[in-house]
Amino acid sequence: MIRLHNVSKVYPLKGGRDNGPQTVQALKNINFHVPAGQVHGVIGLSGAGKSTLIRCINLLERPTTGSVSVDGQELTGLSRQALNQARHRIGMIFQHFNLLTNRTVFANVALPLELMGMKRAEIGERVTPLLELVGLAEKAAEYPAQLSGGQKQRVAIARALASRPKVLLCDEATSALDPQTTSSILALLRDINHTLGLTILLITHEMEVVKSICQRVSLISDGELVEESDVGDFFTAP
Ligand code: ADP
Ligand code: ADP
Repeated sequence: MIRLHNVSKVYPLKGGRDNGPQTVQALKNINFHVPAGQVHGVIGLSGAGKSTLIRCINLLERPTTGSVSVDGQELTGLSRQALNQARHRIGMIFQHFNLLTNRTVFANVALPLELMGMKRAEIGERVTPLLELVGLAEKAAEYPAQLSGGQKQRVAIARALASRPKVLLCDEATSALDPQTTSSILALLRDINHTLGLTILLITHEMEVVKSICQRVSLISDGELVEESDVGDFFTAP
């Protein structure tokens, strides 16, 4: 479902120092595959390249070399328009939720559908069940500022699901939440994986998150994938 082939990412360093390096290699020759329906975690220290890796999958960052395919479609060579279409199959949620503060809960979830040009009535038919799925049907008319962190992330999850993606990318999605709220968001993601068959790739620096919902886990260190295994083996290995 998600496949990376020889992906590398080099960032230019702004204001380049005279003697030091002019670039940072954030990813080195990543080869990686997540089969359909799997929940896969990528863990690693701060600066290891996790965020770059996940952003390369929907091309929020463009890999310097290598190819990325999602749901059988190669993304790195697509035109802007074709990429916008392909992104409907890739939902994403973030550490700080990235909701629009001047839009209601309903209108935040409706936004990607409006951008797709969907008709009003159809948008309503799609958004209402999503708000029910995430347990926020009664909050439709409220604004993000009126919600708790966990509720905001639920809105973001509903918004990410609005275009009926095949893949959900989670960028430190529980890192801003307390342990109890984290558990409830992870339970929701597990539920979505089961009921919708959605493939989930998450990055986190928290082992507990991986233990709680992932089947497979990769360890990234200094831009390289250094280990991959089933979660049970990963945590029992000597
Ligand atoms: P992580 O998510 O694991 O903390 P990142 O992917 O954010 O790691 O960063 C990997 C490396 O790339 C780090 O050395 C970081 O400083 C560098 N980096 C990330 N984004 C940029 C950028 N936009 N420009 C330059 N360097 C960057
Ligand atoms: P904008 O003014 O930027 O279009 P709105 O807040 O008016 O944003 O909402 C965008 C869409 O979502 C509109 O179609 C609106 O009717 C619908 N909408 C907003 N809040 C609700 C709600 N609580 N219940 C049903 N539909 C809503």
